[in-house]
Amino acid sequence: MFGFINGLLRRSHRERLRFAKFPSHWLEILKTNVPLYTQLSASDQDQLKWRVQVFLAEKRFEGCGGLTITDEMIVTIAGHACLLLLRRDTDFYPELYSILLYPSAFLVPVKRDFGDAPGIVHEGVDALCGEAWPTGAIVLSWDEVCKASLDDRDGTNVTVHEFAHLLDMEGGAADGTPILRNHKQYMGWVKVFEAEFQYLRRARRRGRSTVLDKYGTEHPAEFFAVATEAFFENPTALKQQHSALYSAIKGYYQQDPVMWLFRKK
Ligand SMILES: [Zn+2]
Repeated sequence: MFGFINGLLRRSHRERLRFAKFPSHWLEILKTNVPLYTQLSASDQDQLKWRVQVFLAEKRFEGCGGLTITDEMIVTIAGHACLLLLRRDTDFYPELYSILLYPSAFLVPVKRDFGDAPGIVHEGVDALCGEAWPTGAIVLSWDEVCKASLDDRDGTNVTVHEFAHLLDMEGGAADGTPILRNHKQYMGWVKVFEAEFQYLRRARRRGRSTVLDKYGTEHPAEFFAVATEAFFENPTALKQQHSALYSAIKGYYQQDPVMWLFRKK
């Protein structure tokens, strides 16, 4: 009962935010730090601004490693996160509660079995610039978020990457398959993604250059995340060289970034 009422209140609050004024300094941050915003149609820009307001009203940002959270940080991250939600019926990353932000790469403990001796596991640390946790948090490094924001055409964006992981996890395990509309879309998705995943693995083994970041060969979940980055940041090359993959991702995000490039401003 309380869940039902909370859901109603949340939806009502979200709808009220459609009429809230978007602060002018937030708009300047979007234009500067989320360059893809400037390529959207006027109606998509309005939709993005509304989604950013809902996102910022519902998610908590925490500065780590001595970092003080600023408006620039929260609007930049929310802008990229909401780009992935733009045309879809969405519940705004319902499992996400916190965004933890470090000033730079952060260290996480890891255990690895190199197979060098039976039962021996090596402990160490990895330096990461982003990580999505299934327990309701995303961790990012601000300097990597900034680097990605400055170049929206290099095919990589750590914020987009980590939020793609969250969408993937909405379907259960992080396996490269987010929630799709119907059985037919699932069947098409699995066929295309499996073929493209294997293609990328072969290209990596043979040392060939690829549109997709080869980090995508690590796991199907990473493949979906790097494919999402390329879809938004290098759409023309992705469409030319991997048209079936582009089409599948376009069907999911219900957006066509190639067309943004031809829009008159
Ligand atoms: Zn990843």
